[in-house]
Amino acid sequence: MTKACEKWKDQLLEAALTGARPKDLQVHLQSCRDCTTELRDLEALRARQDSMLPLLVKGSQPSTGFRARVLAAAEASGERKLGMRWRSWKLAGAMATAATVLTIGAIWYRATAQKISDDELAAAQKLAEWRAPSDSLLAIPGQEILRTTPKLGESYLNVPMSKVEEE
Ligand SMILES: [Zn+2]
Repeated sequence: MTKACEKWKDQLLEAALTGARPKDLQVHLQSCRDCTTELRDLEALRARQDSMLPLLVKGSQPSTGFRARVLAAAEASGERKLGMRWRSWKLAGAMATAATVLTIGAIWYRATAQKISDDELAAAQKLAEWRAPSDSLLAIPGQEILRTTPKLGESYLNVPMSKVEEE
């Protein structure tokens, strides 16, 4: 396209889009091969876009297999949920088994309690009373007061009076 044809650019585009052919443009096209080629290219481009438009519109709608895919995905997630439910059932089963073992252990312990010596019992009690070393970190000041009850005539608020005040 020569520089003289620059002014036809907009009209060429409009001609390609709308098909309008003003008289002066028609006259120019008859004498200018460049602009004719340009117009043909633009028209071809528009035609291609026109043919793509239905595809674009179609693409915005769910494809035929969309519904089936969604249903399949929903079913798959449902199965996964079912699997999770199975896992929780398994966990519950394991906990029930552990509870049963504990119960049997307790029965066995009671049955054999007489055979256990005092030393063993003391050791077992010590084990039961075992606290984590970090428990002391959780202790709050004055916890002893909350845990125990003061005996009659006893006070936990034994503030030693200073001799200076007494005098
Ligand atoms: Zn031209």
